[in-house]
Order: sequence, then structure tokens, then C-alpha cells
Amino acid sequence: MRTVYVNGQWLPEDQATVSVFDRGFLMADGVYEVTTVIDGKLVDFQGHVARLERSLAELDMPSPAKADELLALHREIVARNGVVQGRVYLQVTRGNPGDRDFTFPDPAKTAPTLVMFTQMAAAPEDSAEAKRGLKVIAIPDIRWHRRDIKTVQLLYPSMGKMMAKKAGADDAWFIEDGLVTEGTSNNAWIVRGGKLVTRGLSHDILHGITRAAVLRYAAEAQLQVEERSFTLTEAQAADEAFVTSASAFVMPVVEIDGVPLCGGRPGPVATRLREIYLEESRKTAI
Ligand code: PMP
Repeated sequence: MRTVYVNGQWLPEDQATVSVFDRGFLMADGVYEVTTVIDGKLVDFQGHVARLERSLAELDMPSPAKADELLALHREIVARNGVVQGRVYLQVTRGNPGDRDFTFPDPAKTAPTLVMFTQMAAAPEDSAEAKRGLKVIAIPDIRWHRRDIKTVQLLYPSMGKMMAKKAGADDAWFIEDGLVTEGTSNNAWIVRGGKLVTRGLSHDILHGITRAAVLRYAAEAQLQVEERSFTLTEAQAADEAFVTSASAFVMPVVEIDGVPLCGGRPGPVATRLREIYLEESRKTAI
């Protein structure tokens, strides 16, 4: 049984609860972060905390703890649960004002709710998915227009994964105005003539921490990168495709909406970037 953190307390997971009046439950009034653990250490923790602080600020939500306190809590939850490979989920909501009301509660009277829990994962090198590559379908992006804020409103991404499953695929890419925005829970990339292409940052996509890391490593490896939008048709004609996220790292995509890429196998650029990403993450994890 896992030990989870709820508002200052360490509890067995079956005894951890939040109020029925919590705004996370009633209004999806909450944000979250997922930090990967490799070899018992936190990958890109600074990036995740910076994005958490930005998400909170954009929603006028009080911060539950300072960055150094959050780091200590992350380390403690990893240690308490003996996580070697896995991830730490951190969920923050606007708390429990004691009743249901659309207006935000006074932050002086209602403290945010802070919950943390861990998940175990296989070692990244053992990922069968990475060896096989993902099949993605294309679905319309009908999410709200502040996708840069990492909110807990994950219903449509959840539906997208179900649509993918039903279609015999692994995941879905969102399409808006004919252009790929991102995956249900990852950033989308294509490779054309040795050049990496991924959509630029705006309110249209989540500013992926893994995306930023891959951009840094690509520059170090002297790979050319274009941060621009691309159409579904361009993606289907690309040499390779892949997605990035804290949980999936760099994950090859081998089929887009029924069209196979790279002979239906993970491409060399995606495979190499996955290796570089894992190697660098191991080096820089804290
Ligand atoms: N886009 C969306 C919609 C996501 O949910 C995620 C994963 N949280 C990402 C991109 C990738 O972000 P990160 O690399 O920070 O995990």
C-alpha cells in the first residue's frame, strides 16, 4: 500500500480523503504536475515547479508551499514509497470553502488542497511501447483555450484515449484549424529531412517540460529544429514522428490516422533522441 500526502499528513492511501466540497471535485478548480523518478531521483524538478507556479498564478490560486518545501516533499514521498522508477503526482486545488459556490473563496479563509501520490513504472529501457512505437488517430481539439495551464480538466483527453482504443490505436493527436496542436497527454513532433518540427508555444498547447528538454538536447546534438505548426497531412508524409512527456519520455509514433510512417517502425531520430533524453535525465536528476 502506498503512503500518500494530504495537506500536511502522510497517510496510507486507503485512509486519505478530501472534502466533498473541495473545488477540485466540484469545479475541476485545480492544477497538477507529474515529475518522473529515474533511479530514485527527480527529473527536471525545477521545470515542473516553475510551471506549477505559473499555472497557479494564471488562475489566481494561492500556492500551497514554496519550491524548496515541495522539493523536500517530493524526496520524502519517493523515499517513503521506495520509488526507483516511477513518478510523483502533485495535485493542488483551490480548497474546500465549506459549500458550493461559483465565485472563488477568499484565499485568506480557504487554504489550497495539496495532495501527492506516487506510481511505480518499469525501467525506461524495458518499455515495449518504445520498441513498438505508437499508433495515433486524429480527433478534433475541442478543449478550452488555456491549454498552457496544467489543469485537472482531463475529461476530453480521457475521451480521446478511449476513442483511440476503440479505433485499435494507442493515442490521439488533437487537430484545430487543420493543424496538429498536441497529443492527449504529450507534445507532438515530426521529423522531415533530418529536421525536427514541433508546434511553437502559445495558449494552444501545454508547455511540455520534456519538450523543452528535448529542444535543449537537440541543439547540443546540432539537430535543426523548427518551432512551427504542421498539418495532419504534413505529419502523415513525414519521415518520422514522436511524442514527448514526463511519463513517456521520447516515444516513437509509427502510424498517424491509418498512415504508417517509417515502414511502421520507430525511426532512427526518435530512437536516438530517446537515448539522449534518458542519458541526460539520469545525469541531471536530483
Ligand atoms: N501536453 C499535454 C496535453 C499533456 O497532458 C502533457 C503531459 N502532462 C504534455 C503535453 C507533456 O508535458 P510534460 O513533458 O511536461 O510532461
